[in-house]
Amino acid sequence: MPLPNADTIAAIATAQGRGGVGVIRVSGSSVETLARGILGKLPAARRASYSNFLDANGDILDQGIALYFPAPHSYTGEHVLELQGHGGPAVLQMLLQRCLDLGARLAQPGEFTRRAFLNSKLDLAQAESVADLIEANSAEAARSAMRSLRGEFSAAVHGLVDELIHLRMLVEAMLNFPEEEVAAVDIEQRDTLLNNLQSSLQQTLDTAKQGSLLREGAHVVIAGQPNVGKSSLLNRLAGEELALVSAIPGTTRDVIRQAIQIRGVPLHIMDTAGLRVSQDEVESLGIALTHQTLRRADLILLLLDASQGMTALDEAIIKSLPADIPRLLVLNKIDLVHGKTADSQGGGTFVGVSAKTGEGIEALRGKLLEAVGWRAQDSGTFMARERHLRALTQAQTHLNQAHAVLTSAELFAEELSLAQRALNEITGEFTSDDLLGEIFSRFCIGK
Ligand code: GDP
Repeated sequence: MPLPNADTIAAIATAQGRGGVGVIRVSGSSVETLARGILGKLPAARRASYSNFLDANGDILDQGIALYFPAPHSYTGEHVLELQGHGGPAVLQMLLQRCLDLGARLAQPGEFTRRAFLNSKLDLAQAESVADLIEANSAEAARSAMRSLRGEFSAAVHGLVDELIHLRMLVEAMLNFPEEEVAAVDIEQRDTLLNNLQSSLQQTLDTAKQGSLLREGAHVVIAGQPNVGKSSLLNRLAGEELALVSAIPGTTRDVIRQAIQIRGVPLHIMDTAGLRVSQDEVESLGIALTHQTLRRADLILLLLDASQGMTALDEAIIKSLPADIPRLLVLNKIDLVHGKTADSQGGGTFVGVSAKTGEGIEALRGKLLEAVGWRAQDSGTFMARERHLRALTQAQTHLNQAHAVLTSAELFAEELSLAQRALNEITGEFTSDDLLGEIFSRFCIGK
């Protein structure tokens, strides 16, 4: 049943500006009174009714479609009224004001979805995917957000929790007979079930990582000497997806950031334009870069000039790069060394491209995706957030610890219980108000 005494909230649900149609959404306990005030009557449930939208004097503010969804069969689980009028800012404002005059208050960002969550219409992972779907700016991201919204991610998590509960029941039954010795066969069974659980968790984590990559993207730094073609390569990579490109001035004068997409995966590419010729400077700059730009990098694309080959300066740059970040060596200007392919230059370890002619760029795109951990999906990924990855990893840690205390039923049970708690955080069974506040405040108003 819907939350008792939930006040009534209203918002313009459509985007700001002019549009063919504008939608006002109202949810809460006084929706019926409000509908009678604006429409003169309560519309039939779940049917489109063409109506006049009236002001306090009975004058017509607008005309459009009214949709009434009585609780609990609505998005929020409460009574919901949607008014679809003309999509002009002034007319929508007047209509919204009319709802407020009739006792509704302005909805906060994400408040409709928050109510849907609190009324168990959606779990937390699904609620988050509503925002992810709205924010998705590639078809791939939208599809995977939709999969999460349909509950595929939640179902995977619930599957893990079910397996966990099964294992916990086995062990906790045993805890009630502390005197008895734990039979070897029980330990073996525990071991088998735990191994299965660990591999299911690993699979879910792998898929979730893909989803997180789609949502958050990866940070790639282009490093290399001046004039090797860093800016040209960046433009070339961005070029074909120009509509989606935005140039953001970096935090330091020497770093340019561009967001590009390769097959729907966002890459935040940083061009470090500062490496100078002197080795001392390379070193000091290398250190500065390590602390600034490179700290967030998932991948370093080191660019060399094919007509020069690997120079002493390149080697100095390579030495100055942080050792723990994966790198991809790319040889630019292969148009200048005709007949010599990337393989013949670098024994297969280089990717050869020409930022000028476009040669090798498509192959580089594939290599970049591979290097940041994207793999082509056959079964489809689901959208996941950093928060979910943390919870899954935490559950994984507890399962590993459980393995270490296999023979102690008590400690084993404790680790399983902690793992379950971590998993439940994903779907929202254990969630603090602070976290809910943070999640829903990032939604748009009206959703
Ligand atoms: P950056 O200093 O590393 O950013 O290098 P730029 O992108 O500014 O390029 C330096 C020079 O190399 C420019 O004159 C480019 O036109 C040229 N250049 C860049 N890429 C290529 C390439 O693939 N082939 C050839 N022949 N010239 C290139």
